[in-house]
Order: sequence, then C-alpha cells, then structure tokens
Amino acid sequence: MIRLDDLTKRYGTFTAVAGIHLHVPRGQLYGFLGPNGAGKTTTLRMIAGILRPTAGRIWLGGVDLLADPMTAKARLGFIPDRPFVYEKLTGGEFLRFVAGLYGQDGQTVERRIDELLELFELTQWRDELVEAYSHGMRQKLIISSALVHRPELIVVDEPMVGLDPRGARLLKDIFRGFVARGGTVLMSTHTLEVAEAMCDRIAIIQAGRIVAHGTMAELREQTAAGDVSLEELFLRLTGGRAVRELAAILED
Ligand code: ATP
Repeated sequence: MIRLDDLTKRYGTFTAVAGIHLHVPRGQLYGFLGPNGAGKTTTLRMIAGILRPTAGRIWLGGVDLLADPMTAKARLGFIPDRPFVYEKLTGGEFLRFVAGLYGQDGQTVERRIDELLELFELTQWRDELVEAYSHGMRQKLIISSALVHRPELIVVDEPMVGLDPRGARLLKDIFRGFVARGGTVLMSTHTLEVAEAMCDRIAIIQAGRIVAHGTMAELREQTAAGDVSLEELFLRLTGGRAVRELAAILED
C-alpha cells in the first residue's frame, strides 16, 4: 500500500506538486499519467525518498517515510526515468552492490541475482562491464536492481522507454505477476495503451493536482464519456481540444 496525504513540493515560489492525496491499495497496479511537467517525476522522487516534500506525508506499506525512512525504503523498489549505473562494475557486481545497500548478501542474494539475470536474459552479460551494455540492457539491469531485495512496493517512472517489444512484454508480465502475489506498483507512463491494458486504476495529474482517478469505468463516469479510449479521456481531462485546435492550425 502506498498513501500520499496532502503531498506538496515547491521549488522556490513554483508549486510543482500541490497537495495531492492518493491511495494505491495492495495488489494493484496503479498508472500515474499526466502531461509534460505535470509533477509525476517530482511525486515519484518524493515517494522514493530522494526529494524532500515541502509538506505532506508519505506512507509505504503503513510506514511513515519521513519518520522512519530506513524501514519505509526497505519496502520499496524504485526504477527512475534516468537511472544511474556504475559503468565500471559488471552487471553481477552492480546487483550485488545494490543488495548490499539493503544489508543483504550471501547465497540467497547470489541465487536471486542469478534468477533476475536469467529472467531478463542478461546471464551471458553477468561478468561484462555495464559500459558495454546497450540502453535496453541497462534498463533491464536497473529493473533487476529494484527487485533484488524483494520489495513489496514498486515505484517506476516511464519503464517502457528503451525496451524492445519482448522486454516490454516481459516487464508487463513481471508487474502483473508481482501484483497478483500481493505487491503494489505505481507506474508513470506516457504510453496510454500500455496503461489502459495493464493498470487496475489510473490517476491523472495536471499542474501538480490530481484531476481524476479510478478505474477506466470510473474515469469514464467522471468525464461523462461513453466507451472511449484512455487517450480520449486523457485529452479531455488535460485540455485535448486545445491540442486538436493547434493541430488544425498546423494543417491549414
Ligand atoms: P515529464 O512528463 O515531462 O517528465 P513530469 O510530470 O515528470 O514531466 P516533473 O519533472 O515532476 O514533471 O516537473 C514538474 C514541474 O516542476 C515542471 O514544471 C518542472 O519544470 C518543475 N521542476 C522539476 N524539478 C525542478 C527543480 N529542480 N527546480 C525547479 N523546478 C523544477
């Protein structure tokens, strides 16, 4: 379970996240959508404990992140949009390093690393330096590193970027399997078809505020829309008419 209470982030006088409330229940894959600059990454970085909120509370699996950050962060796997990887470590060393940050080592971790490398088809790259990895391979390694300590919650920023269709499918299956076993995923994405196909619930953030949230059926109800796609709902909720008018101007 992830809960955000009145979460706020200001950069100077600019409010990037304006007092949002969100409850992501256990066993659900929750999509977090919004236009560029809406506040998605800022929110996810606060949940990951990388960015300090200006105000509000964050609960991770029932633990208050600001009051007990070590316990809260141990429950979470974070996959950032622009990950940092040590180029001079091998894939295996990198995963061992991350496990060590969570105080885990020994045979259990070695087995877990083997499993993850196998799952992401990186076994043959285990002893190669990360600098030799392609973009997609790095992405797979980062995803593995977020899973290495067996978190109960995953927060992921734009996971599909850089993955080939097979990798994207694998990730979908992993996330769906993870929530089926009682895990919780909060995922930001611009790929609306992916969100529509994968997510149990969706929240749409615009200019730092949640403008709608719920299942696809609930979102349709909130917008009084018929049987329309998530793309159409998204455009209606975030000013789609203006986008279409702009496109029409360009066509003239
Ligand atoms: P995108 O879809 O483009 O990645 P986003 O929804 O993830 O966007 P954020 O990166 O959270 O958006 O940014 C929200 C707002 O906060 C933007 O207006 C951005 O310019 C601003 N912002 C983000 N980081 C900083 C910072 N360090 N200092 C000042 N403003 C910032």
